[in-house]
Amino acid sequence: MHKAAETVLEIDLSKLKQNYKHLKSKLDKNTMFLAVVKAFAYGNDADEMALYLERLGVDYFAVAYINEGVALRNAGVTKPILVLHPQAVNFDILIKYNLEPSLYNLKILKEFILAVSKKNKINYPVHLKFNTGLNRLGFWQGDVEMVNNTIGETKSIYVKSIFSHLAASEDLNEKEFTKNQIETFKTIADNFQKVFKYKPLLHMCNTSGILNYPEAHFDMVRSGIGLYGFGNSEVENQNFKPIAALKTCISQIHKINKGETVGYNRAFKSESVLKTATLPIGHADGIGRIYGNGKGFVTINNQKAPIIGNVCMDMIMVDVTNIQCFEGDEVIVFDANSTAETLAQTANTISYELITSISQRVKRIILS
Ligand SMILES: *Cc1c(COP(=O)(O)O)cnc(C)c1O
Repeated sequence: MHKAAETVLEIDLSKLKQNYKHLKSKLDKNTMFLAVVKAFAYGNDADEMALYLERLGVDYFAVAYINEGVALRNAGVTKPILVLHPQAVNFDILIKYNLEPSLYNLKILKEFILAVSKKNKINYPVHLKFNTGLNRLGFWQGDVEMVNNTIGETKSIYVKSIFSHLAASEDLNEKEFTKNQIETFKTIADNFQKVFKYKPLLHMCNTSGILNYPEAHFDMVRSGIGLYGFGNSEVENQNFKPIAALKTCISQIHKINKGETVGYNRAFKSESVLKTATLPIGHADGIGRIYGNGKGFVTINNQKAPIIGNVCMDMIMVDVTNIQCFEGDEVIVFDANSTAETLAQTANTISYELITSISQRVKRIILS
């Protein structure tokens, strides 16, 4: 395999395919699959991921913002794209690129109807988001009548789906709460059907919902993190393959005498003679300062090298005293064995945050 001679994020499409197949194996054959590719497909490369997933047969995509959807259309994605958190200021662009908004309150619903009717469109597909306990975005259970009154006789839009989002699908201690969310969503769906006299698509599950709540798959599921290789639990992680490997290389090796310091603010003080390696990756690449000062680590020649001192913008220094290594050697920041989840835990955070933080200046290499 390719040896990293600079900082690169290698993305393995064959692993993406395995994760997709694994998730699909959890679904009834008629359940639709929406791939969540917001935030550059969780840092991976949204265009490449979406085009590949489209070929594999996913039914739908979701992004957070309108500009993310525009990028996918420009890359040639043709499947429907749900925009989870559109801003009204960009509705004209959303319509131009044939993106489908999530509408979550009266204000944005009215703004969208106005934007569509100005363009003389009819039956524009929209998705209504209902809050069932996350308390983030969404109409409330009792809002169905009001939504119906607002949509009224307009032919501008039609409600293609109604959906909700689980607050703690990965946390089995919150099973009761989650089951309550599912029941509330069913009540909303029934009520919607009574009031609107038709049944839109229903969807509620993210990755952990797919794995833990088969009774809540409804017509479609929405997966992000699972596709990229994380199952949000030790057991489920066994069934997924992280698709991305963040690699770099050793720029320089130093011998540091006892009593010397390493890096900015002299944050690391050596208590014995050490060997350090300086690597071309820093907080501007997505390795936040929180990983410094002994918390995070990288892997060099199969051995762990802790990050010492403060993380710089473009570099980190790691302790390689006990590692046989040379300038130019490859360094693994995370991969399928030493995972992003493990590294994220050293900073008390989650895989989602680490992988979405890998900045756009890190070169992406797609392996197929
Ligand atoms: C991000 C997001 C998802 C995907 O969640 P994963 O845990 O990554 O599978 C699904 N639905 C909504 C509304 C989201 O915002």
